[in-house]
Amino acid sequence: MKTVYVDNNATTKIDGAVLEEMMPCFTEIYGNPSSMHHKGGQSGDLLKKARRRVAGILGARDDEIIFTSCGTESNNTAIRSALLANPAKKHIVTTMVEHPAVKSLCESLDKEGYRTTFVPVDTRGRLDLDTLYAGLSDDTAIVSVMWANNETGTIFPILDIAKKVKERGILFHTDAVQAVGKIPVDVNAIPFDMLSLSGHKLHAPKGVGALYLRNKTRFFPYMIGGHQEHNRRGGTENLASIVGLGKACEIAAEHMDEENTRVKALRDKLETRLTALIPKCFVNGDLEHRLPNTTSISFEFIEGEAILLMMNEEGICASSGSACTSGSLEPSHVLRAMGVPFTAAHGTIRFSLCRYNTEDEVDFIIEKLPPIIQKLRNMSPFWKED
Ligand code: PLP
Repeated sequence: MKTVYVDNNATTKIDGAVLEEMMPCFTEIYGNPSSMHHKGGQSGDLLKKARRRVAGILGARDDEIIFTSCGTESNNTAIRSALLANPAKKHIVTTMVEHPAVKSLCESLDKEGYRTTFVPVDTRGRLDLDTLYAGLSDDTAIVSVMWANNETGTIFPILDIAKKVKERGILFHTDAVQAVGKIPVDVNAIPFDMLSLSGHKLHAPKGVGALYLRNKTRFFPYMIGGHQEHNRRGGTENLASIVGLGKACEIAAEHMDEENTRVKALRDKLETRLTALIPKCFVNGDLEHRLPNTTSISFEFIEGEAILLMMNEEGICASSGSACTSGSLEPSHVLRAMGVPFTAAHGTIRFSLCRYNTEDEVDFIIEKLPPIIQKLRNMSPFWKED
């Protein structure tokens, strides 16, 4: 059976050139980058090169990059560091649609005595900026707003938010895990203090990420241990994966135009054809400000999990907008925050494409999905043909 993989916001395939650069780290270049001997030196050189490449895709200085184990660790590090840097301040501002790597952390911090404002979004997933700005106070230690939403692809106005937050002298962090590699990200154009990224979203391996930390920003490490990463993240570096991340960043920068033209055209074709062929379905998110690879489509009166299973039987891998929690099927917090009706939120599918997808694959989905939706609706007690 052929596989059509359109779940790239969940994770991506490792690029062949990335794997190739990683391989020597498993065989010849195994020294600890902190070691004084030549094997350590070889590893240290690769670490330096990878740091330069990651800094390159962001327009950052090499010493502003801290390697971590994933996007989740980068987010946790940024927010906890800001709280430690401002011990008198107990308030965090974030959004209702963050990834759990920020949302659950803030909920947990609230139990530790902090107070979080979760800024709402409208029905198109656009952030309520008035509430965000009105919520800033002298007690606010950090504002953390994701750059692009993993479920709908909605892009927030990070430049405006960063400017306003910095005018108030408050630390600003952005979770750019879904943005880096898909849209241009330039730390010189936007005044954030910290930015998180993750390798496995841009064709590097899982288990590696980075935190951009603007020069001179007060910082407290999350992983306390050895002197690695200039005392900012203890633990022997995951060299092979870091090398992979560096190469993936270099390649992503080269493919950025393709992402915004060819991949976007494929996404648009998929979206336009499916919504034309299938009645009672709609696209979620801010259609004018969206990642080029993502579409979230709600098919009313049926369940996303059933759609996913039937698509999987055809070899199509996508994702639903629901999370199965403790036996009950809860629609995603993102769709709930947008006020997507229950009957539609349950039937939401996210398609997230990448540079490996082809027009044939998109045509295959356009051919296979309409009969699947019809079949499920015929079984649904809620479905009535107009
Ligand atoms: N932030 C966003 C927006 C994400 O989409 C994800 C992963 O899906 C993460 C953070 C977590 O990244 P990681 O899986 O590297 O911990």
